[in-house]
Amino acid sequence: MQKLVALLFTISFFLIPLSQAAASPGGTDSSGGHTCWTNCSKYGLETGEYHYHDANGNIIKDNPKPQPAGLFTDTGGHWAEANINLLYELGLVGGYNDGSYGVKKSITRAEVAAIITRHLKLPSAAPSFTDVTSKHWAYSSIGAVAKKGIMGGYSDGSFNPNAAITRAELAAMLVRAYSLTGKSSISFKDVSTKHWAYGVIQVLLHNDITGGYPDNTFRPNSNVNRAEFASFLARIIRNHDVHIAGGEITAHFINVGQGDSILLETPNGKNVLIDGGNRYAGDEVTDYLTREGIGSIDVMVATHPDADHIGGLIEVLKKFPVKRVLDSGKVHTTKTYTEYLTLIDQKNIPMDIPSKGDFLNIDEDIAVQVLNSTYSSSDLNESSVVLKVVHEDVSFLLTGDATMENEANMTQQYNVSADILKAGHHGSSTSTSSSFLNKVQPSITILSYGDNSYGHPNSAVVQRLKSIGSKIYSTYNHGNIIVESTENGFTVEEG
Ligand SMILES: [Zn+2]
Ligand SMILES: [Zn+2]
Repeated sequence: MQKLVALLFTISFFLIPLSQAAASPGGTDSSGGHTCWTNCSKYGLETGEYHYHDANGNIIKDNPKPQPAGLFTDTGGHWAEANINLLYELGLVGGYNDGSYGVKKSITRAEVAAIITRHLKLPSAAPSFTDVTSKHWAYSSIGAVAKKGIMGGYSDGSFNPNAAITRAELAAMLVRAYSLTGKSSISFKDVSTKHWAYGVIQVLLHNDITGGYPDNTFRPNSNVNRAEFASFLARIIRNHDVHIAGGEITAHFINVGQGDSILLETPNGKNVLIDGGNRYAGDEVTDYLTREGIGSIDVMVATHPDADHIGGLIEVLKKFPVKRVLDSGKVHTTKTYTEYLTLIDQKNIPMDIPSKGDFLNIDEDIAVQVLNSTYSSSDLNESSVVLKVVHEDVSFLLTGDATMENEANMTQQYNVSADILKAGHHGSSTSTSSSFLNKVQPSITILSYGDNSYGHPNSAVVQRLKSIGSKIYSTYNHGNIIVESTENGFTVEEG
């Protein structure tokens, strides 16, 4: 049965482009019309325009194709629909009051400034262009992209916020905004090596962000419409681990209810996922990763095989490319554990079991050391992989469900001091001893828990944290907690 479905799927996939490829009059769909893809201007049609032929072969255009429902009135079935939807889900684009997205509208310089600022979370800045007053809707975004050198003004001091953007200009902006590099061997007949945008267009090609047109042109002077823009940006988001943090490290303590899940975005754009919460939190985690524009996981860490840590990793393994798994090596007998392991095996993902003291090679701008990994212990929590992550002046101590005994061992062998502590075992009484806290001296502590019958967090633990002056953030009270390093410390946000 499954094979048959797959076969049907394959057949339908090949059928659609064939019927659409026909010029005039060719195969028609169930509505009796078809889309023009070749020599369209010859028939008075635009490329991609849907039309019918009457009995005499005349073209009838005024009979609109029944559109499948889309997020916007003009995106259902549109070639860029998936890309527009992705940007919408990420909160980067919206539509117009009439319910349309404006697929054919030229995108303006102000719109591009606003979208890039939103996506890269650029700090607002005040621009000094003659035609952008503080009342302009994109005032602080225009200031932000100008300050970062992503977009500039004109020699007369203006910015031209409502002007359209050409494909060559957009190429240059995207390369600057996303620090894209590379060179392609492809060349276009309308972009000579002397063209001012030759280099940046080569970079886009190298990164598979555009392939140009079938007639071997790039059309550098054509204006970019909103559908095309969505596709350029969506490809950047999908193809690259976009380096948003600007040389900083961001730790997301994802609210997974009762459990742990931590995403680290390293300074050079590597994504590390430590635990995934319970099985039921899997969708929560994958949605979160998608919203953050994460395309793949460079390192997945399963601190120990308890279900509230590895359960949600199953959904992540199903939906995301995972390049490497770090596991405690502690074996468990549950269905959840077996499924987790089976997926790693099926997908041929390399798996390592680290030893205490190991430094993990993830990103040259951070140091990640394993302070605990004790799979020989009979206790699951005791086997927790504990990581200390340091980036310049900011340090994190991520303890899984490590116990007080683990804490005592770590204190003896390593420098456990850290600015940010993810307290062990959801704030349980079995972790976070006074002597440990005295050594760690965290300025903030994260408690990751949800509704539970275990009494997490234990009131004595909370009291101990308060007594050393550590500020407490819990996923239960604050939701997702995002800690980002800055030039002189770190910031904490709820999101
Ligand atoms: Zn546990
Ligand atoms: Zn746990």
